[in-house]
Amino acid sequence: MKVDLHTHTTASDGKLSPAQLVAYAVKLGINVLGISDHDTIAGIPAALDAAKTYSTINVVPAVEINCDVTDGELHVLGYFIDYNSQLFKAELERLRNSRRERGARMVAKLQGLGMNISWERVQEIAGSGSVGRPHVAQALLEAGFVASFRDAFDRYIGRNGPAYVEREKITPVDAIKLISEAGGLPVLAHPADIPNLNNFIERLKVVGLVGLEAYYNGYRPDVVADLVTKASLNKLIVTGGSDYHGLGGEAGGELGQPDVPEKCAKDLFALAGKHLN
Ligand code: AMP
Ligand code: ZN
Ligand code: FE
Ligand code: FE
Repeated sequence: MKVDLHTHTTASDGKLSPAQLVAYAVKLGINVLGISDHDTIAGIPAALDAAKTYSTINVVPAVEINCDVTDGELHVLGYFIDYNSQLFKAELERLRNSRRERGARMVAKLQGLGMNISWERVQEIAGSGSVGRPHVAQALLEAGFVASFRDAFDRYIGRNGPAYVEREKITPVDAIKLISEAGGLPVLAHPADIPNLNNFIERLKVVGLVGLEAYYNGYRPDVVADLVTKASLNKLIVTGGSDYHGLGGEAGGELGQPDVPEKCAKDLFALAGKHLN
């Protein structure tokens, strides 16, 4: 069984539409696909619909909420959230609106630095999805102000860059509560990047954290092993995924990479009380 529990679509900053992503996953032989767009569940219905036309794939409705913590970010995945929950949708909508304002402010800063890109173009690139820095990076790239996505982040829109603007802050505790209230299972995304992980695990378990994403694009075997041990010590499940964006490897890995053990999907489905085909 091939498993990838962390992917993005055009509903946020991925390149493939939900239906295209599902079709591509089927082509690669993936049996369990988590769709985890940033701050939106707008891609889920189309993905579930697309999955119905294939017998080999299970789509797991999910979300990835970017939370701010001192000196950085922490991302929380929410699996099997109720994507019809009005409360959940309203809260995500609030976060997306703040992303739009923030995107416009970054563009204004870039203009101030002499880069003539337009907010309209950035919105066009984002389409109906929630606006993120990758969209700003693409606008910079196509206007010739940077040589690559990486260049855009390194020089301008990375956390310490001159055009960086923070998003509205949501704490990991609030994100986990929000996901839990919508019936979802909160998991820490790419946790090897989190400083003081042990402290976070302790605090976040109390409010509903159930797992760690130990298998992740680029994680060395010793890093994975360490996270698997940490999960086991804390009675958390282990998940994994590629963080596929379809942007040519600039953000996240190739779909279906790295290999994620079947057990990850089985444990997740069992905890959710869902049937895995
Ligand atoms: P945002 O949520 O708008 O702050 O954008 C975060 C997204 O930008 C991440 O999910 C990545 O896809 C992308 N990203 C962040 N840092 C970099 C980087 N150094 N190079 C390329 N993409 C990045
Ligand atoms: Zn992204
Ligand atoms: Fe993330
Ligand atoms: Fe992601």
